[in-house]
Amino acid sequence: MTQRISHWIDGRSTPGTSDRTAPVYNPATGRLTAEVDLASSSEVNAAIARAVAASKIWRHSSLSTRSGVLFALRELLHERTDELAAILTAEHGKVLSDSVGEIGRGLENVEFAAGVPQLLKGGFSEQVSTGVDVYSIRQPLGVVAGITPFNFPVMVPLWMCANAIACGNAFILKPSEKDPSASLFLAQMWREAGLPDGVFTVLQGDKEAVDALLTHPDVAAVSFVGSTPIAKYIYETGTAHGKRVQALGGAKNHALVLPDADVDMAADAVVSAAYGSAGERCMALSVAVAVGDVADPLVEAIAARLPKLRIGDGTHPGTDMGPLITAEHRDRVAGYIGAGAEQGATVVVDGRAQDVPCEGFFLGTTLLDHVTPEMTVYTDEIFGPVLCVVRAQTYEQGLALINDNPYANGTAIFTRDGGAARAFQFDVEVGMVGINVPVPVPVAYYSFGGWKASLFGDSHMYGAEGMSFYTRGKVVTSRWPDPATSTVDLGFPRTR
Ligand code: NAD
Repeated sequence: MTQRISHWIDGRSTPGTSDRTAPVYNPATGRLTAEVDLASSSEVNAAIARAVAASKIWRHSSLSTRSGVLFALRELLHERTDELAAILTAEHGKVLSDSVGEIGRGLENVEFAAGVPQLLKGGFSEQVSTGVDVYSIRQPLGVVAGITPFNFPVMVPLWMCANAIACGNAFILKPSEKDPSASLFLAQMWREAGLPDGVFTVLQGDKEAVDALLTHPDVAAVSFVGSTPIAKYIYETGTAHGKRVQALGGAKNHALVLPDADVDMAADAVVSAAYGSAGERCMALSVAVAVGDVADPLVEAIAARLPKLRIGDGTHPGTDMGPLITAEHRDRVAGYIGAGAEQGATVVVDGRAQDVPCEGFFLGTTLLDHVTPEMTVYTDEIFGPVLCVVRAQTYEQGLALINDNPYANGTAIFTRDGGAARAFQFDVEVGMVGINVPVPVPVAYYSFGGWKASLFGDSHMYGAEGMSFYTRGKVVTSRWPDPATSTVDLGFPRTR
C-alpha cells in the first residue's frame, strides 16, 4: 500500500478528508512513493480556526519563551540534519550534501529569529511635550500563511516560519505537493521544541487550499515563493482580499564575465551555480554573458568541466548532480534544448545525449553558446541543467542585457577590476548581486528578494524586513495625570 502524507493540525498528524490526493515520487528512481492529501477549502477553514485560537494564546507568550523555543528548534535541527536531509533528497532528488547545505541555510533563520527580544525592541522618546512620552511597539498580525516551492522544501519554509512565529504569530505552511514530507518533520520538531499546538500548521494541498488561504478573512498576511505567474496571482488575489503579501517569483540570473576575469575561477563558479541542484534553484546562474575575448576560453573551460560531473542518485556518495523533480519537467527542459538548437544556438554539450541512469527523471548537463536574446532558451526560465552563453562586445552591452531582462533576482560579476565591480554593483537593476560570488543568497541577517518580475510586493523575505513584515507598528503617546497641569484645551495638541 502506498504511504499517505497528511496534514499537521493542532499539534498532530491529521489525515485529510477531501478524497483528493497527489502522487509523490522519488525522482532518482521514478517510483511512486506516496500519495499526499490535498486539503479542501472546508479543511483549510477548520485549520485556520484552530490557528486563530492558538495565535491568541501565543501572542501572550514572553519574548524569552519564544526565544527559548527557537533555541530548542536550532538544537533539534542540528541533531537531525542527516535524517531530514535523507527525507529531502528522497522526494526532491538533490544530492545529500546539497540537502545538508539547504538545511544549514534554513537554520540560520532560526538562529536569527532566536534574537527576537533584541529584534522587536521599539523606540522611546521622553518629553515630546511637557510630561508626555512617546514609544513605538511592534505586534504580531495573528495568523499568517506561507506557500512554498518544491525546490527548497526546508529552507524556504524556515525563511518564513522562524520569524513569523518569533514575532508571536501562528503560521500555516502550504508546502509544495511534490515534496511534502519535510514539512511534517519540521512540524514534529517545532512540537518537540516546545511550541504550543496550533501555532505551526501544515496544510498539504494545491490551488484549492491556496485559494482558501488567500481569501479567508482571518489570514492576515501571505508569504509566497514560487514561479512568477503564480507569484503575481498570489499578490493580486491576496492584496485584493486585504492581506499583506510578499510574493517572490522566478528568475533568469546572469553572470557577467569580464575579459580580465580569471577564466578557471569563473568557469568553476559558473558551473557550480548553473548545474548545482540540477539548475533547480531560483539563484542558479542560467546565463553567462561573456564580454569580449573571454568568450572562447570561457566556453572551452566550462565544456571541459561538464564531463567530470557525476550524475546519479543523490544518496550515492560522490554524486554531484541528481535528477529533475518530475518526468514532465525533465521533458520540458529537454524540449528547450531542441528549441535552442533550432533557433540557432550552438549546442556545445548536449544533456540529452549523455549517459545518465535510465530510471528516474535524469537529464545531463547542457551548454549552449551563441545564444541571442530572442531565443526561448533566453527569454524563459528553464529551471534545469542548461547554461546559455551570450556574447557581448563590451561591459555596457552586457549590463544593458541584464537590465533589460524582466527578471531581476540575482546576478554576479566576475572580474579582477574593483572599479568595474563597483560600477556594476551601482548600476545593475537586480535585487541580489555577487562580486566573484556565484550564488549571492544573503545571510539571514540581511533580507532576500529580487526586483521586477522576481518580486511582487514591497517586502523582501527574512532578516529585518521579515520581522517588519510579520508585525505591525503601534505608537503610544502617554501622559501620566498631574493635577497641577490639568486644564480644558480644545486646540490641536502642540509639542512646543
Ligand atoms: P510553483 O509556482 O509551481 O509552485 C509554488 C507553490 O504554489 C506551490 O506550493 C504550489 O502548490 C502552488 N501553486 C502552484 N500552482 C498554483 C496555482 N495555480 N494557484 C495557486 N497556487 C499554486 O513553483 P515550483 O515549481 O514549486 O518552484 C519553482 C519556481 O519557484 C521557479 O520559478 C523558481 O524560480 C521559483 N523560486 C523562486 C525563489 C525566489 O526566492 N525568488 C525561490 C525558490 C523558487
